[in-house]
Amino acid sequence: MKEIRVRYAPSPTGLLHIGNARTALFNYLFAKHHGGKVIIRIEDTDIKRHVKGGEKSQLNDLEWLGIEFDESPQKGGPYGPYRQLERLELYQKYAHQLLEAGMASKDYKEGSEDYAIRFKVPKGKEYRFNDMVRGEMDFSSEDVEDWIILKDNGIPTYNFAVVIDDHFMKISHVLRGEEHITNTPKQIMIYQAFGWEIPLFGHMAIIVNEEKKKLSKRDKNIVQFISEYKNLGYLPEALFNFISLLGWSPSINEEILSAAEIIALFDEKRLTKAPSMFDKEKLKFINHTYLKNSEIEKLMEFLQPFLIKLPQKDSKWQKSFVELFQDRLEYGAQIISFYQEYFQDDEDLAASEIDFLKEDAIHLEVIKAFEQKLKVNEFNEENIKTALKEINKELKVRGKTLYMPTRISATHKMHGPELAKLLILLGHDKVMKNIEKTLKVLEEL
Ligand code: GLU
Repeated sequence: MKEIRVRYAPSPTGLLHIGNARTALFNYLFAKHHGGKVIIRIEDTDIKRHVKGGEKSQLNDLEWLGIEFDESPQKGGPYGPYRQLERLELYQKYAHQLLEAGMASKDYKEGSEDYAIRFKVPKGKEYRFNDMVRGEMDFSSEDVEDWIILKDNGIPTYNFAVVIDDHFMKISHVLRGEEHITNTPKQIMIYQAFGWEIPLFGHMAIIVNEEKKKLSKRDKNIVQFISEYKNLGYLPEALFNFISLLGWSPSINEEILSAAEIIALFDEKRLTKAPSMFDKEKLKFINHTYLKNSEIEKLMEFLQPFLIKLPQKDSKWQKSFVELFQDRLEYGAQIISFYQEYFQDDEDLAASEIDFLKEDAIHLEVIKAFEQKLKVNEFNEENIKTALKEINKELKVRGKTLYMPTRISATHKMHGPELAKLLILLGHDKVMKNIEKTLKVLEEL
């Protein structure tokens, strides 16, 4: 069988967008699944749209995601160079060949010797191809006008350069976004003009937002750049997993999958034709699952960029803090909000909390008993748990009637993680102060 070689061909026009990351990932998965090669080629001929550092940031983000290329501008490879601006002579040579063969014509710039080269679209031809995702596609040459392949400044247009490169880089399959489907007949014309073998094409369904509109970079409701997810504390393996499900699904009924599992399961026949919805909640859920299952040491390391923004506590405190909130974390930066919510805001009791405590006279008794027990015993997790058990027996209270007054009085919050652990993190003084304040409020009523 012919060697499988695919490519991801970004234009360095900005940060790595989720849609581009998906194109890169599916090419990577396809190559790795079939034991082929995946190449990155920089399509930098649109100089006006260049963004400084665009190529570098894309490559960094792809590497962070865990997408590695076998051939690239940095690594090189047998079919380089891998940046189009470094291949201009090649495009010029082949454009002139078409000119000489009468398959293209000169298009002079007014009042100048410079000319562009325009491809002559054959008349009355049908262009058919079997798209890997969308099946049989056909286009008539009547719908395509003669088009420029080389501009008068010697720079090729996308539809021409892409064919020259895919041919000389021995690309076997072209997997890209649906927006390129109407470019495909133009590209096929060039393959046919040279008598070259045409690769197989596959056009992946668009990604849409929750209103079913195509994801637009201007849509502020959705975080769309990979570096933004990185900064928010998303794990690369979670994003890898999530992106792999944008327009593809595994044959098994399981969505939390490692890179190795996804590579093994990847099947291009399961790429979907229907638009795939970018489900923010699903992304959060996947990331949450990875964070929850993370080993504590790894998680501590991952959370360092956020933890250093917090008031400094000793590492034992930090570790207990992270452990306590680990199973609630949806993304790394959230650890800061948890800190602010539970350890920073010195809020008085909220009206709803006071209302709850007032509902039943027994609440005051529970709080008093709790205060008493915390006062006389050493302040540790075991003793806090024992205090709750004793109050349960002595006052014959359980469930909400036991847990809410103790939690509200000690933390000034209705909800939160495991109480005994939370109180230890808050520290003896703060807890006693909270309880005292609560009692004062209740007694003054
Ligand atoms: N440079 C093109 C893009 O960024 C690549 C299209 C293709 O894969 O042929 O959309």
